[in-house]
Amino acid sequence: MAETEITDTTRIPAVGYGTDGKTPGNRLTRTQFERDAPKGNEVLIDVLFCGVCHSDVHLLADEWKLTLYPCVPGHEIVGRVKAIAADVSKFKVGDVVGVGCMIDSCRSCEPCLEGEANHCSGPHGPTLTYNGYLYPNGSTHNTFGGYASNIVVREDFVLRIPEGMDLAAAAPLLCPGVAVYGPLKRFNFKPGAKIGIAGIGGPGHIAIMIAKAMGAEVTAITTHESKREAALKLGATNVIVSTNPEDMKEHAKSLDHILATIPNAYDVAPYLGLLKRKATMTAMALLGPYSEPLNNLSLAAQGLSLAGSMIGSLPDSQEVLDFCAEHGILPQVEVIKIQDVNEAIERLRKADVRFRFVIDLSSLQNC
Ligand SMILES: [Zn+2]
Ligand SMILES: [Zn+2]
Repeated sequence: MAETEITDTTRIPAVGYGTDGKTPGNRLTRTQFERDAPKGNEVLIDVLFCGVCHSDVHLLADEWKLTLYPCVPGHEIVGRVKAIAADVSKFKVGDVVGVGCMIDSCRSCEPCLEGEANHCSGPHGPTLTYNGYLYPNGSTHNTFGGYASNIVVREDFVLRIPEGMDLAAAAPLLCPGVAVYGPLKRFNFKPGAKIGIAGIGGPGHIAIMIAKAMGAEVTAITTHESKREAALKLGATNVIVSTNPEDMKEHAKSLDHILATIPNAYDVAPYLGLLKRKATMTAMALLGPYSEPLNNLSLAAQGLSLAGSMIGSLPDSQEVLDFCAEHGILPQVEVIKIQDVNEAIERLRKADVRFRFVIDLSSLQNC
């Protein structure tokens, strides 16, 4: 153990914002808890910034019926390594690092061995950074995320933040950043391809910038006319307002692929009408049914593919950080104090943010 007196049995005190008690509720209050000391190849990270994700909103309201209480959210974590356990080889004290949606997995199934712990097919799936269970040794206390002063994570699940990158703006790359990067990469498109990005919120605004840097001609698809200007500024060439039938008709069968980043139930059929034949539409962010049943004829008639994608792999997470550093891409963030997190969650619920809230955890010292 470097530079600290931590032993395997030490409990690490943490302070954060979480739900009070064990009842569902989405109001967060100051909470104190303890983490296990880092052991083996784990690192202790002091959290500097943490993004506020739409999935935090869903989980806090128990919309997916799987929320564990008490709940300390946060899985877009940027921090500084405070201590390392004996077997850590990739990081040293002081390194600036990131943690995304997962902190462990079975590490032995085929997806894990192929670097895709996000698709872990082990008995428990990946261990989520928060609202997950820690395995093995029966220590099934639930995981607490990055709305907190620190976190302990195995080094294989820790990413390196490129030097010089704005640390607050880097946070969303760890969840929506990699979540849009993976499917865009899998489209494997040629330069100049016409790529549609549907839903211009947290993930969508990053997707516009990444797709453009990958060489696409980007079309932003939004229900809000008010987002037109922002989408063009982010690098979109065209903007379709999906609630305008004329607009949709004009762009029928014009796109090579669509990445949809819409988090709430929507009718997928109109979007499919924008695709050229044999194109793919990938829906990330939506983890439930579409609002209308899909008539398979709308896929079959044009030979279209409809795909899904959830979070991202660890290699892709490092790749998107490096890609964004190389191309000067930074998410647009509104940095908030932890004391304002409840208001931020309410605003996020109403899509009232351009484009991502990021909590500055130094504000914890003032409460
Ligand atoms: Zn997220
Ligand atoms: Zn696995």
